[in-house]
This record gives sequence, C-alpha cells and structure tokens, in this order.
Amino acid sequence: MDHRPLPKLSSRVDRLQASTIRQILSVIDRPGMISFAGGLPSPDSFPDLSHVDLPASVLQYGPSEGEAALREQISSEMNAIGLRCSADQVLVLSGSQQGIDLVAKLFIDSGTTVAVETPTYLAALQVFRFFGARFTQLDPREAKAGLDADELPALAYAIPSFQNPTGHCYDAAERAALAHACDTLGVPLFEDDPYRDLAYDDCERTPVCARLERAPWIYQGSFSKTLAPGLRLGFMVASPELVPLLLRLKQAADLHSNRVSQHLVLAQLRSPGRAERMARVVDGYRRKRDRFAEALQRHFADLATWETPPGGLFFWLDLVAPLDTRDLLSEAIERGVAFMPGELFYADKAPAHGTMRLNFSHADEAAIERGLGMLADLVRARIGS
Ligand code: PMP
Repeated sequence: MDHRPLPKLSSRVDRLQASTIRQILSVIDRPGMISFAGGLPSPDSFPDLSHVDLPASVLQYGPSEGEAALREQISSEMNAIGLRCSADQVLVLSGSQQGIDLVAKLFIDSGTTVAVETPTYLAALQVFRFFGARFTQLDPREAKAGLDADELPALAYAIPSFQNPTGHCYDAAERAALAHACDTLGVPLFEDDPYRDLAYDDCERTPVCARLERAPWIYQGSFSKTLAPGLRLGFMVASPELVPLLLRLKQAADLHSNRVSQHLVLAQLRSPGRAERMARVVDGYRRKRDRFAEALQRHFADLATWETPPGGLFFWLDLVAPLDTRDLLSEAIERGVAFMPGELFYADKAPAHGTMRLNFSHADEAAIERGLGMLADLVRARIGS
C-alpha cells in the first residue's frame, strides 16, 4: 500500500470522529454472528418488487425535489395523519439520513447550539458534530421542554415516536409541551419520524410539527423500515419558507434521488395489498418484540431494567451497576454476539450505569435466546451480580 501523507484538509475534518465501534461492528456479517447491533429490518418484511413496470424516463435525470406523483402521494398521506401541507412542501430524500445532513447544513455553524434528546440517534449526533454543533438537552417533561436553558438553541431535534435508541413514544402532553415551547420561543423543530408505522401498541403519533402555529418546522419520514433500506429513500416536508433553501442544498448534494427507487416506492404505496402487507410486517415485529421481552426477562432480570417499547426496533437497557459497555463489545463479538453500547448515544457524558441498545427485529427467535444468554453472562461477569 502506498502511504502518502494526508494533504491539508478542511478544519471540519478534525471533527470526523474515527469510530472504533464502527470498525468492530464491521465484522457483524460474519457467518453465525448474532447481531442486536444495527437497526436492520427483517429480510422477510421486504416487499416483492420484481413485477413493477418502470417508465423509461427513470433512466433520465429528474427533478431535484422528487417525482411529482410521489410528492403528491406523500403530501396526501401527511395530510391524512394531521400534517397540513401541499405537494410543493415535499422533498424526496436519498434516505432520511440525507435529511439530517441537509438540515445540519442549513442551521449549524461552528458553535451553534442544537437541542437533542438524551440519549439520541447516534448518526444525527455525528452529523451535527461534524458541522460544529454544541448540544443542550431537550426534554418535553421539563419547563419549556428544556429549550430555554442558557442560550436558545438554533434547532430542536426530536424523535417523538418510538425513539432511537430508547423506544419512547411521547404522549399527547409531551407532544403539546414541545410544540408550545418551540412556538413561544421561536425555535425551529426538526422532527425525525422513521418508525411511526412500526406501532405495536396504541400510542399518540400525531406529528408534533402538526401542532405548531408559528415555529419553523421540518418533518421527515423514511421508507427504510416499512419497505426496504436498500432503496435509500425518505422524504421531508417543511414549512414553506425553508423549502427553497432545502431544495438548493439537495440539488448541491446529489441533484436528485434515485428515480428507479422512487417509482418502486410509488408502486408500493399505491399497491392494493399495501395495508395487508404492513399489517403482516407489524404483527411479525410485535411477536418478535414479545419473544425478545420474554427472553430478556429470563436472562437480564437481575442485571438491568427496561421498558417494553410500544413500537420501533429497539430495547434500551439500563444496567443495575456502573459499566462502560464499550469495553464489553469486542469480547461479545469474539463470542459471536453484537450490540450497540448505549454510551454512543449521548451528546455529552453518559450516565455511570451501563446502557445498551438491542435490536430485536433481525435475529430469529433461537438466536435471540442464545445471544441474550451469552450477553447476560458477559455482563454478569463484569458487574459481579
Ligand atoms: N433517523 C433515525 C432516528 C434513524 O433511526 C435512522 C435509521 N436508523 C435514520 C434517521 C436514517 O434512516 P434512512 O436513511 O434509512 O431513512
């Protein structure tokens, strides 16, 4: 290998954290590995896309905002869940991860304050940090949702439905409190909602953005969890004054999202079997969540506390004793089981007691039993319970 010295790079690159965790997790595809680490949908949830007729135009460059018919479809679905918008306010994204990047570019300079939940989505923290964000804590149970701490944040980022990593779903009072705080303080709200359709129990899911009267807002969704992540398709809807700016950022980023994927998604959204397929996916995940909860009870009852998530893809464990679970990961992987250390999801200091995020959608039931058994043995050996 040719080892050239690095050329002079942008100062932002200093904030690109080398992730040893990512390197460790890169081995989770090894045969036999039981992975509770990623948020991978179950492969048997994927739709059959083999018979979709694609127009010849999909091979040509297309509009940056997305295919007109898909934007219409998305806007009518958003209105149906209470978020009033027109198709002009919809931008199709190359995965909702792209939305995080575009919003960060729009709002964050070096030193900009962003309010985030504690803990919050790791890959949002990484993007916000890359652009130089400082963090304060958003908590809908605190006065003014915590947004009026020392300095007003330039942006509030929240995942109100089946949060990644905790699985928490804001109740109506929490939704109202966050909307009220954003409105009265004039803080723009960025609501990230990739899990809303993976609801196993009854919960309030009306977008918080739908309750805003004055504050600027961006709401985003994803087709990764309901259709397939390899399609790399999501969407955002924003208050009208932000749309032209987000569109320019989207143009500069990738001209437009993949048109083949957009037509595959549109065909699925219009498919007569859609509701039935979704009901089957949700039933399958609910069953898996319940099996996972039972297995946790068998293996972790003396080691951790948790709440059964009402939706989404993750259990969040609070261990009963101090432990940095990052120190456990390589040993766990050596033994054949992967998880996400909870410490990674904190903007600032993680609590002393150990935390872990466990995905329940990917492994099969036998692997769940074996994997949780192995993980519990490792935790028990470390915390001496
Ligand atoms: N936001 C949250 C909260 C997520 O959990 C994820 C995926 N794990 C994303 C955004 C990105 O999803 P995608 O790019 O696949 O739409």
